[in-house]
Order: sequence, then structure tokens, then C-alpha cells
Amino acid sequence: MQHTIPMNRTISDHLMRHRPDAPVLYFAPSVLQATARSFIDGFDGLVTYAVKANDRPEVLSNLVTAGITAFDVASPAEMLAVRAADATAVLHYNNPVRSTEEIAAGITAGVASWSVDDSDALRKLDAVPRSAEVAVRFALPVKGAAYDFGAKFGATPQNAAVLLREVARMGFVPSLCFHPGTQCEDPRAWASYLIEASRIAAIAGVQPARINIGGGFAADRGLGAPDHEAVFNAVKAAKLSAFGAAGPKLLCEPGRAMVAASCVLAARIKAVRAAGQTVFLNDGIYGGLVDIRDMGLPGPVRVLGPKGPRRSTATPRVVFGPTCDSLDRLPDGLMLSQDAEEGDYVLFGGMGAYSIAMSTKFNGYGLHQIEMVSELS
Ligand SMILES: *Cc1c(COP(=O)(O)O)cnc(C)c1O
Repeated sequence: MQHTIPMNRTISDHLMRHRPDAPVLYFAPSVLQATARSFIDGFDGLVTYAVKANDRPEVLSNLVTAGITAFDVASPAEMLAVRAADATAVLHYNNPVRSTEEIAAGITAGVASWSVDDSDALRKLDAVPRSAEVAVRFALPVKGAAYDFGAKFGATPQNAAVLLREVARMGFVPSLCFHPGTQCEDPRAWASYLIEASRIAAIAGVQPARINIGGGFAADRGLGAPDHEAVFNAVKAAKLSAFGAAGPKLLCEPGRAMVAASCVLAARIKAVRAAGQTVFLNDGIYGGLVDIRDMGLPGPVRVLGPKGPRRSTATPRVVFGPTCDSLDRLPDGLMLSQDAEEGDYVLFGGMGAYSIAMSTKFNGYGLHQIEMVSELS
């Protein structure tokens, strides 16, 4: 695949040449590959990628180039997306709620690892070959993440022990998994999960083959690079103290932190109203900016006018998206240069995760175009 060869040098080159009237996600493969390599070098285990954060072929093939061999998928469509980028990629199917048809699709695709968090879900895997790994997902009420993934999935530790024993009895490769919640800033969240994993294993009397520590790694939100090294070290230390030197192998599945920094989203100003206080963009919460509503700004914001960057003092604005729905509004107070005008571009940094993957086509809008650049400037 030619995806490693960017077609544009910089974002401003492309914007100035094409003046796109629809939002564009600018993707720098070099940034993504460097992030992937830093996870691979720093983490003491297998690094996989959570496809839901960004499932574009350009992203998946560059991860393969960087050395990612296994992917966390949640649906048959994500399995196909991964296999299109790499026919031999290892699939981990970690959405614990699956229809019978989805399980059949996973078996056909040769899924190597499945997660479960309840006994009915485990019984439904009876047709899965016993060479597969089944990881029991458990949840703790730990803080530290932007929001709690345990609210939807994950068995209690007591139920997880029962399930782990049942997984082993059925003849699968028994493992444990968890997810501390997205944009998790606190290494102790992973550490407390690992300690609990060893208790679950002891109650079950089953040594897990692997522990999947989930995603949740924080992305750089323009406030300096998050300390992934601290998480890697906390995980390593917690595993050693909980399981000893011959403990289970580890794997992780970052989504947000893997891909966020590799993209900048460019939205165009369609109108400026109310003496400059209100700005209408061509992208909003039904498009690539939906995650901003829930998570806040993921990185620096700048404005590009026809002659280059707008440098005047930034002032807080009310910013609407392009649809006719009044909910299509970014959190108030987005700071934009005072001299920003209709036709300018607003560049949002750190936008690789949960942007183009979550865009709808509501009202005929949305973020659908991706352009590769060698530099995010
Ligand atoms: C969403 C998800 C991830 C990735 O989470 P991030 O916060 O984006 O790193 C990893 N594993 C599972 C099972 C998920 O559902």
C-alpha cells in the first residue's frame, strides 16, 4: 500500500491550494508511526490498537507498517477493516455483548481472543475453537479516567472468579481483562486492577495466561505529553508484586492515545455574527467534533486566514456547527482570534481519535475527508 507516502507537505499548503468547503482531517503518518513505536518500545507486553478510535484504512495500514500486529475489534465490520489493512492481523474481539450471527462472523474471521463478562455471554461462545483465548472482563469502581467504562461492561470480581473457572473448564485459554476508562491520567488505576486480577485468579484457582490492561492511556491535550512511562512502570511493578516473576503476559489496547496526536481537523468559518461573538463552522457535534462536547478540547486551536495564521488576541465565542439543530453547538467559550473571518479555517489539534470515526451525515454534513500530510503545520 502507498499510504506511507503523504501527498501534501503541510496542512496550510493543502488548505491554500484547495480552499476546501467541507471539513478535512489532516493525518500525519509519521506522527502515528512514532507513537506506535513508543508504545511498542515502552510497554512490557503486546501492544494492540483499539480500532474504534479511528478505523480509516490510512490509519490501520500505517499502524501495521509501524509494527502493530493485533487489533481490538468490536464488530464484524471492524474485523473486515483490519483484515483489509493486513490479511494476517490478529483479531481480539472485545465487545462482550454479541449476537449469535456476530459470533459466527468472528469464528469465520478466526478471532484469536474473545472477552466475556457474564455467564450467558460465555455459553454463547460454545462453537468457538478451544485454541482461542477467552478473557474475563471485570470492573472496579476506580477513579482517574474522564469517564468510567466499567459502567457498561465488566463482571464484579466475585463473578469474574466464577467465570474464569468456567472458561478454564470449557477448555479455552483463560485470561483476564479490564479497561480503566478513557483519558485516564492516574497510573494507580491500572495498578489497582492488576492487584484485583491476582485476587480473582487466586479465588478461581486459575492462573490467567494473559492480562489485557485495556486502553485508556491519556492523549496529549495540548498541556504537554502525558507520562505513559509512569503507567508502564506502575503496571510492571504491580504485576510483579501481585503475580511474582512468572506472572501472566500483558497486553494493552490504546485507542485515543495511539491516534489522537496524528491528526488536525480543519473546519471552515461559514459566518460570524453578533458582532463577532457567534461563529458558525462547517463541522460540529454531529460531525468530527462530537467528542469535544463530552471530553473538552483535545489540543490547541488556531485560525488560518487567507494570508496565514491569525495572530490577534483570542476571545471566547459561541460556536455552532452547520446543521439546523440548535444542539449543534460546541462547549461555550472556544477561544478564537479576534480577527477571524468568514472563509478562514479553524484548526483543532489532537483530533485523530473519536472524530472521523464518529461523524454522522446528519443534515448532509459531517467529516468524511482525510488528507495525508508530512507535517501537521
Ligand atoms: C474503547 C476501548 C479501548 C480504547 O480506549 P481508549 O480510551 O481510546 O484508549 C480499548 N479497549 C476496549 C475494550 C475498548 O472498548
